[in-house]
Amino acid sequence: MPELPEVETVCRGLAALLPGRRISGVECLNAKSFPQADSAGLIGVGFTAVRRRAKLIIIELDNGHCLLVHLKMTGQLVFVADDGERFGAGHPNDSLVNRLPDRSTRVIFRLTGATLYFNDQRKFGWILLLDTDRLAEQPFLRKLGPEPLSDTFSAEVLAQALRPRSRTSIKAALLDQTVLAGVGNIYADEALWAAEVHPARPVGSLSADDIARLWRELRVILQLSIDQGGSSDRNYVDATGQRGSYLRFARVFRRQGQLCPRCGSTIIKTRVAGRGTHLCPTCQLAPVGTTDAAAR
Ligand SMILES: [Zn+2]
Repeated sequence: MPELPEVETVCRGLAALLPGRRISGVECLNAKSFPQADSAGLIGVGFTAVRRRAKLIIIELDNGHCLLVHLKMTGQLVFVADDGERFGAGHPNDSLVNRLPDRSTRVIFRLTGATLYFNDQRKFGWILLLDTDRLAEQPFLRKLGPEPLSDTFSAEVLAQALRPRSRTSIKAALLDQTVLAGVGNIYADEALWAAEVHPARPVGSLSADDIARLWRELRVILQLSIDQGGSSDRNYVDATGQRGSYLRFARVFRRQGQLCPRCGSTIIKTRVAGRGTHLCPTCQLAPVGTTDAAAR
């Protein structure tokens, strides 16, 4: 799954290319990918902006509506201009560079001077047409927690978002999109290591200082990842089709068996919140009464 930085990178890339262009045709090759394709009335409609909320791509149109896109596991948006300029983002298979449409193409948007392809090998991704003014009312958007990179996201906002989850582990809470939007496994592990907080600690056991460090590190790490091209997981490439380089900067994620850059202890991989979890057993003290066991 793409995380916040990957989707942010996709949005920034498309934001430089789509506004000002108009839709001249829509072909939907897999009905479930864009169920409203035929009834959407998109011919002649122009793009005005591209932005992100959590892991969703919001492409705003000049008719008061927007296209909401979720790439899910294998989704991909590829922009091909008539002059050959090309811009692929998402799942890093050959469709990013090959002639399109291909077997993974699900929706084709014909634009003025360009074509936008929505490719999705495994067909879990989707596109929805929604009223832009009513976007916030959508159940899956309304329930989302705060955006960790927004100006209004403070340590106090994080503390408030965590409060109802006091008995769950901090890692489970960070992964819960209703607590915080867009953070997944990689950035949760990295931020918890940087903040020296053990992932299995109950939220209620964290001090205000712990939460303040976590708040700061989450923002630093997400911003660094965006600066590095966004892509982090091996399944994702950034908006220019380049693999992102964040994992080169990762300090615990997929580094089990290597030495902690802070204290030199051996990083382990264990399971917390049902997810593979990477941590330093020295810097991140396990909750009282528990010990860390290395998992596969
Ligand atoms: Zn350490």
